[in-house]
Amino acid sequence: VSTAEILKRLIGFPTVSHESNLDLIGYAREMLEQAGAAVELVYDKPRSKANLYATVGPRDKPGVLLSGHTDVVPVEGQDWSVKPFEATEKDGKVYGRGAADMKGFVAAALRAAACASRRELATPLHIALSHDEEIGCVGVRSLIGVLADAPFRPAMCIVGEPTSLAVVTGHKGKANAKVECVGCEAHSAYAPKAVNAIHLATDLVSAIREIQARSAEAGPRDEAYEIPYTTLHVGIVRGGVALNIVPKSCLLDFEIRNLAGDGADLYLDRVREEAGKIVERARPIYPGADIRLEQVGGYPGLETDGRDAVVRLGHGLAGENPTRKVAYGTEAGLFSGELGIPTIVCGPGSMEQGHKPDEFVTLEQLDRCDAMLDRLLDRLEKGI
Ligand SMILES: [Zn+2]
Repeated sequence: VSTAEILKRLIGFPTVSHESNLDLIGYAREMLEQAGAAVELVYDKPRSKANLYATVGPRDKPGVLLSGHTDVVPVEGQDWSVKPFEATEKDGKVYGRGAADMKGFVAAALRAAACASRRELATPLHIALSHDEEIGCVGVRSLIGVLADAPFRPAMCIVGEPTSLAVVTGHKGKANAKVECVGCEAHSAYAPKAVNAIHLATDLVSAIREIQARSAEAGPRDEAYEIPYTTLHVGIVRGGVALNIVPKSCLLDFEIRNLAGDGADLYLDRVREEAGKIVERARPIYPGADIRLEQVGGYPGLETDGRDAVVRLGHGLAGENPTRKVAYGTEAGLFSGELGIPTIVCGPGSMEQGHKPDEFVTLEQLDRCDAMLDRLLDRLEKGI
């Protein structure tokens, strides 16, 4: 069975992050077990979702890991001309939610595992399929925990997010934070006697923009990125009840997207420090004034040395594509950072199609990915 046919089945499972992925995992598990793979599922607490980890070939050696996520982003509010959860093939493309991000690679990995069963692998092939990647690389963490305790963890990892099969060695990390600004209510005619929570929030927004400006001017740089420095961004502000009431509460959400070598914690500390100063200025008017900041998610950046064996392997498999760094985040930073597994990102299709209506991957990209994974199997037969 071809990668395109597997992909079409995968698109048919509507695995939007908040939904169960168990039907898709069941399909993958059956296919992998038929290929003689050892398959392990790691469920989430309500047992409505699972990660899958499979090994084809020897079980007492490190091997190479192909990693992908099974969840997709929602389609609500998007103008699709085809059914998002029913694959459509036309003009050399397969359309459907997840075609590019990233069921195309998952399909190719499953096909490779099926092919691997007909070969005599000296080095094992591992497949990792995760849930809840699209909501902040949340699901894969339980799998990382299992791998951390495994006697043989993979020696190298390829995360197949869409890069048009370029070898990607880096992406930024991310930290999300929620902030609650606390002031006190008053009639707006007496505003100077109260603490306006929206004003606390806007002062904090100014401080965040100031930190961002300093990062752009004088922070660490990596010119391999389109935006070569760590960025801060406020995405949501909510506050106020009526024009004639001084608001007592204002909420804001901001994020940090940091270069891998430029820790997000540093920036969170700076924001906290500025919040402290703003609160200090407000407390003489109202001692209960406060700015509460909580980190609510994030993932580490990826920074794989260009001379690492996994990069050479990637070039050997994918061809002499240029090495790149990408703006979006992936699970690669976790495999690399938490487990110390040298990791690259390399997969079929383009993120330009990701998260959009009429998402697609070309058959040409799927064919090239198949060829790349066939070369990987050749290498695994020889023991890399
Ligand atoms: Zn993705």
